[in-house]
Amino acid sequence: MSLDLRHMRFLTSANKLSDLPPDTGAEVAFAGRSNAGKSSALNRITGVKALARTSKTPGRTQLINLFQLDEGRRFADLPGYGYAQVPEKIRNHWRALLDGYFHSRQSLRGVILVMDIRHPLKAFDVQMLDWSAHHGLPVHILLTKADKLSRNQAMQALHRVDRELSEECSIQLFSASKGTGVAEVQAVIEGWLGEAV
Ligand code: GDP
Repeated sequence: MSLDLRHMRFLTSANKLSDLPPDTGAEVAFAGRSNAGKSSALNRITGVKALARTSKTPGRTQLINLFQLDEGRRFADLPGYGYAQVPEKIRNHWRALLDGYFHSRQSLRGVILVMDIRHPLKAFDVQMLDWSAHHGLPVHILLTKADKLSRNQAMQALHRVDRELSEECSIQLFSASKGTGVAEVQAVIEGWLGEAV
């Protein structure tokens, strides 16, 4: 079976759990600190050039933005930021929203965690890994902007991060600019979303 992710379209934004679409079918969440390269990854993986632009528009950056492939299959683009700079009020809202999302979302099949290969495993990332582990969710990590390093350096970074991860996690190199690793992550997503029907 092969999913055509080019049919992915913006569905809605959620600022609270009750705003989320019905919890049916299968959902894959995308997480990452701001500037990690999550939007570029989403656009590249789906082949829909401006897909993630919605998530970047003012007023939507702190929301969960939902994209739909078909009736039963969605992406959830989770809000992310460089942890320290954010006012406590927003951080608390973010924490409550995502904690509730991880806790209650039955259709959530797995998390794609996007990290800049030069700045992996920050506090934000560790929080996402902890939440996922707590709810028994698999995480697939994209070490993105791999084109910024030599092949050798990139492989070293990959092994360094891999050593820190639990067994439920997988990891790969990725570059939105070069297209590195696109097929690999698509296969992971297909495995998760494919179970929907
Ligand atoms: P987001 O905030 O996580 O959604 O990050 P963006 O996708 O907006 O990317 C942040 C910055 O990193 C932008 O300037 C992108 O052009 C750049 N960027 C994203 N992915 C890559 C990549 O694979 N390679 C390189 N060289 N730059 C990238």
